[in-house]
Amino acid sequence: MRDTATDQVDLAELDRVELEAACAARGEQRFRARQLFAWIYRRGITDVDAMTDLPLELRTSLSRDFVIRTPQIVSRERSADGTEKFLLRLADGRNIESVFIPDTPAMTFCISTQVGCAMACAFCLTGKMGLVRNLTAGEIAGQVRVLAGALDLRDKPFNIVLMGMGEPLHNYEAVMKAMRILCDEHGFALPPRRVTLSTVGLLPALEKLGREALMPNLAISLHAPTDAQRGALVPINKKYGVADIIAACKRVPVRKRSRITFEYVMLAGVNDSPDDARRLAKLLAGVKAKVNLIPLNPAAGIPFERPSDAVVDAFARTLSERDVTVSVRKSRGRDIRAACGQLIVEGQQRSPGQRLASLAFR
Ligand code: SAH
Repeated sequence: MRDTATDQVDLAELDRVELEAACAARGEQRFRARQLFAWIYRRGITDVDAMTDLPLELRTSLSRDFVIRTPQIVSRERSADGTEKFLLRLADGRNIESVFIPDTPAMTFCISTQVGCAMACAFCLTGKMGLVRNLTAGEIAGQVRVLAGALDLRDKPFNIVLMGMGEPLHNYEAVMKAMRILCDEHGFALPPRRVTLSTVGLLPALEKLGREALMPNLAISLHAPTDAQRGALVPINKKYGVADIIAACKRVPVRKRSRITFEYVMLAGVNDSPDDARRLAKLLAGVKAKVNLIPLNPAAGIPFERPSDAVVDAFARTLSERDVTVSVRKSRGRDIRAACGQLIVEGQQRSPGQRLASLAFR
């Protein structure tokens, strides 16, 4: 990607193959690209002048032609439970949020894939923003660079969940390119099994994902066992319904001993009855599935309530009695509004589409 104002190439937007091509185009050897890649991702260096194993002359010419764009930390909030929410500013002044969740048991970064989101799920705050724009591959991988650096975790194993702002399969190419960058052996060398992509189930993209060489674990935001219920919560269900999503999940290749996670936000009186649990168990029969119950994180403007712990437990028991593996997601970082569905960035300039959307919500 070239900056039209300065004509500089942003190295953070290139996967290693592209970086090698960029080096070759300048008459440099390919191993220079591997060196650059290791500096950027392994050591977190964004200033070419600090790359001391490159000849001085090369450093000078590279810093003239190349930039390495990095999201800037605007603020950092720490929850009582150790969760940290980062507000990051992108090159165009837009803001996104990324969340660090310690000891789950691994260290986990929850990363955004879009500014806002077009899916408009009825219980999600990010959905209220509408879609402002897609993130680039460099901005998606850049969140990992920034968090790993700020938390001093660059050399430690960590997991990534694509569960921040945005619908990852609605920004498919950039997400897959970010996967290539993050999993590259000369960079973070992240194993794909350490990445989980969470989606509402955009079917064509889901089918495509199943054929990717670098395939992350899958989490499907199901939330209800029938089309009537799900359609009222997840608008895109009218296009890609429950039966089609389940059929696609049965076809997707799943690693040995691994399962597809089905996320289920629990809303009091809406989808939390024993009958709902029985229907869900029936629906998932024959799928390599585990269910993750997420009791709603309530917020102003979200017209639902969180069920009691007793209701959640009963729902979980009904599932496990029917041999469905089930866990209840512990909400992390609710005191700093970093929990699921609570990521929203205020004070952004709004697009005409967003202004219309906000009128519709009144
Ligand atoms: N767009 C993707 C990625 C977001 S992941 C997806 O929908 O899967 C965030 C998870 O948190 C999703 O399962 C989402 O449905 C859930 N979520 C959204 N709002 C929530 C809320 N208020 N309380 C609990 N979970 C919520």
